[in-house]
Formats: sequence, C-alpha cells, structure tokens
Amino acid sequence: MTDSSPQLLDLDQSGLSELVVSLGQPAYRAKQIWRQVYQRGVTDPSAMSDLPVDLRRALTERESALTEPVEFQTSADGSTSKALLELQDGELIETVLIRSRPRDTVCLSSQGGCAMGCVFCATGLQGLRRQLTTGEIMRQAILARSWSRDEGRELTHVVFMGMGEPLANYTNVSESIQRLTDPEGFALSPRRITVSTVGIPQNIRRLASDHPNVNLAVSLHAPDPKLRSELVPVPGASIDDILDAVREHNRSTGGRVTFEYVLLRDVNDSRGHARRLADRIRGLRAHVNLIPLNPSPGVVGERPTRRATLGFQQALQERGVPATVRVEQGRDIAAACGQLRGDRVRDRK
Ligand code: SAH
Ligand code: SF4
Repeated sequence: MTDSSPQLLDLDQSGLSELVVSLGQPAYRAKQIWRQVYQRGVTDPSAMSDLPVDLRRALTERESALTEPVEFQTSADGSTSKALLELQDGELIETVLIRSRPRDTVCLSSQGGCAMGCVFCATGLQGLRRQLTTGEIMRQAILARSWSRDEGRELTHVVFMGMGEPLANYTNVSESIQRLTDPEGFALSPRRITVSTVGIPQNIRRLASDHPNVNLAVSLHAPDPKLRSELVPVPGASIDDILDAVREHNRSTGGRVTFEYVLLRDVNDSRGHARRLADRIRGLRAHVNLIPLNPSPGVVGERPTRRATLGFQQALQERGVPATVRVEQGRDIAAACGQLRGDRVRDRK
C-alpha cells in the first residue's frame, strides 16, 4: 500500500481503466470493478469474484481505505443510525441513515468541518479542515446502502445535509452526483437527491445547469440581512443575491426550491419574522421547511416553543407559502442532519 495512490473509489471510469492497464490487465476490467463497487457495493477487491485472482491481489495490496465505522449508534426508536467514519488521514466524519418507510435516506457529509460558522451549528464550530474526495463521499453512500440492504430494505434517497457545505466542495460533490445517478453505477434518480446549501449563488447556478433535476434546499434562517449575518457570519452572498440565483434555478430547472429555516427561540421565530420571510420569497416556487433548533453544547440558541413553531408555520401559510415542520428523528443520538460534530475529534486532542 502506498498512501499517495488514489483509492479505487477516488478513480473515475477512465482512471480505473488506466489502473487496470498499468497492472497488465485489459481495460474492460474497469467496467467490472465499477459495477462491483457502485451496483453491488463491494469495495474490497478480494471479494470481487468476477476478477482474476492476480488482479484482485494487486488491487487489494494498494487499497487501504477502511470500510467499517469506528462507531455506530442507533436511536432508541430504531429510526436513525449515525456512523462515525475514520478517513485515511485520521479525519472523522459522520454519516446518518434515516429510516422512514418506505424511504431510506442517507445524509452525507461533504467536508471535514465547515468554514461558514453558522452560530447554531455543531459542525460550524470546528472550522473547515478539508474537502472530502469524491471517493470519501461515495463510500458513505455505499456503506449506508449496505446497512439498508442488510435489513432487507433499499436506500432510496440521498441528502447532502451532513457535515460541511456541499457547494463549497463543488467539483467533488458534482462528481458524486454523477456517480450516484450513473445507470451503470449507483443508479439513483436525481429527483431523489437533495443538495442543501447555505447559499453560494454562482454554484447554485452551476448546479442548475449541471444537475437540473437534483433538488435544491437553501438554508435561509432569517428574513433580513442583519439577522442573517448574525446567524450565518461568513461574509458571503447577500440574501438578495441568493434569492436571485434561486429565481434563476426556478426558471431554468422548472423545479421548486426548499428553504430551510432553523427556528431559534426569541431570535428568528416570531410571526413578524414569518411575515417578512413570506414577503421576501414572494414570487418564487418555494416551500419552507421549518427546523426547530436542536441545541447542542457549545453552540448558540435555544429550542423554540411548540406554539411559536406552529404560529410561524401558520403565518407563512396565511400568506400562501407552503410550510412544513421537520419531523425529527434520532435526537437522542444527536443525529439530526446538521448536528454532526465528530465528538471524538475533541476527545483525542
Ligand atoms: N451546509 C449545508 C448543509 C449541511 S447543514 C447547509 O447549511 O444547508 C443541513 C441543515 O441542518 C441546514 O439547514 C442547517 O441549518 C441545519 N442545522 C445545522 N445545525 C442545526 C441544529 N443545531 N439544529 C437544527 N438544524 C441545524
Ligand atoms: Fe456549515 Fe451548514 Fe453548519 Fe452552516 S449549517 S456551519 S453551512 S454545515
């Protein structure tokens, strides 16, 4: 094993062809490996039964990526499992499987940590450590699908709502979407994939053009610029710039956007906030998903009351904005999407 050589999951089809040819094998073996990995979920070369033994051995020798989580927790109600995965360089990331029959959804991490620093987000506390590779993103999806299959179900949906800001790792996230939707690969419909972003306008536009059928979710959290910059402190796009990009996304994809709005008690949860939000997003094909804050140690904010949450929802609906309150699963294991933290990172230091 050489640490610098890319792992199988980090290669695209042409990279795999080059590799097998360099190992003295015909290029068509690459297609066999691709199917093994993405259709059957076999990432251990020694178990790729349709390959010749010497190729399996050569691949096994260079493959060092771990496949087993270092920790795996399931919520008391069995609905949600959270896995802590250790990457080759020791980086720890979390992947969550959410079972809500008939769906099984995996919540993927796209970065180690996150640079955006949203004040209520456990991942944001860590700062950005590094981008995840396409292979590291795909490994999470392949693992989650194997957990589903082991339980006699099938993974049906993918959401980029784990650790990190997916549109700040555009290239690798885009390549992952390509593999997830490749009919010869993971073979998922793009309509079952959702990218959640804090709002990076130029990459919302790229996503609309590269993957028009993938669902877009934009984390807004505030109806006006001042409050938003308090909650999402990164000096980035203004709300208006974000909404312009969303308008174009609406237009060019024909789709509908989901606005995520994390409710923090007495901060952004009043009916007045809801009315201003409705005014802001008027004219967009949109739906608002209200997420009562899951407070966690070290981050800002308290949970809104049930009354405030429902009042907010009602105020939106009265103005013709469809709004739902996120059904929470896995709170007991801190597995809500966006609540992921990799606690062991701190324990080790
Ligand atoms: N970076 C992307 C995707 C990951 S976060 C984004 O921000 O959209 C996924 C969702 O979880 C976001 O809407 C985020 O605001 C939300 N979230 C983060 N921390 C949370 C918390 N403590 N409680 C509830 N939702 C949270
Ligand atoms: Fe990053 Fe999203 Fe967390 Fe904000 S909410 S810090 S963008 S992961």
